[in-house]
Amino acid sequence: SISPAMLSAISNSARRGVLLKSGVHLETLANLQAICLDKTGTITQGEPVVTDVYVCDGMDIEQFLRTVGSVEQVSSHPLADAITRYVKDKGISLFQPEYVENVPGHGVKAQIEGHEWKIGKLDFVGKDKGYAFQNGIAHKLEQERKTVVYVACGEEVIGVIALKDTVREEAKHAVARFKKLGIEPVLITGDTYDTAQKIAQEVGIRHFYAQCLPEDKVRHIHRLRGTEGKQVAMVGDGINDAPALAAASVGITMGAGSDVAIETGDIVLVKNNLLQLAHTVELARRMNRIIK
Ligand code: ADP
Ligand code: MG
Repeated sequence: SISPAMLSAISNSARRGVLLKSGVHLETLANLQAICLDKTGTITQGEPVVTDVYVCDGMDIEQFLRTVGSVEQVSSHPLADAITRYVKDKGISLFQPEYVENVPGHGVKAQIEGHEWKIGKLDFVGKDKGYAFQNGIAHKLEQERKTVVYVACGEEVIGVIALKDTVREEAKHAVARFKKLGIEPVLITGDTYDTAQKIAQEVGIRHFYAQCLPEDKVRHIHRLRGTEGKQVAMVGDGINDAPALAAASVGITMGAGSDVAIETGDIVLVKNNLLQLAHTVELARRMNRIIK
């Protein structure tokens, strides 16, 4: 049943862009002990922009970008969107690849004129293939807190694309507010250790897990919940983070612009504002005090 205090907390939150699908989530929020945050789209804007493109000697850059854009137009990952936009903005026309497969947490795989293309993380495209780019360039880009996307054709890494995403203005304030409430913020990301560490530092998060596949995110959440059934929230997107959202005590999605996020979350942040989530936690605690 819904008490007047609960109803008021739900409608107050809704006005601030925090949609609760059920009143029971208020109870969970009131007792929250940890909040896990995905990086791309949650702590960062999720709108990365391409900053650098490097191709190996003898490679035609326009042909390279045409293929990469054509493959990435199939994926809805924020990095894929940014790459596709970058290629289109250069006036390069795209084509429909014969076969493309999305590999969540890793990248995309495609078949083009008998060649296998892989675009994504170094581990995914093949560590042994990246010799020329691993030394120097990729390291330099990561030092600049850029995400490096590797492009392999057959047995070789033929290019890298670097993207940069800015941290959400309110993320830092939200993290401070959660800490003040005694809720431990934890960064869980598929990105590299260096990038994760830099982002965590930038927003004031002490605990972070890098290089996480969707199933690793689930494992970390299970471990945080522990045997005593601690209340742990997960904030992420509805696609890559769907298993982690389901594993958490409460799954929270950044809702602006994605139907999947709206469907997947127990709570949807329709204005993508983490600070308003902290406000709802405060309301939930106050409501608990009124009831008890
Ligand atoms: P996060 O949101 O924390 O970066 P994801 O699980 O969404 O984690 O993705 C993990 C990593 O996989 C990305 O940082 C990127 O390196 C790679 N990746 C996933 N999808 C794509 C894609 N479509 N194109 C290029 N890289 C991708
Ligand atoms: Mg993500």
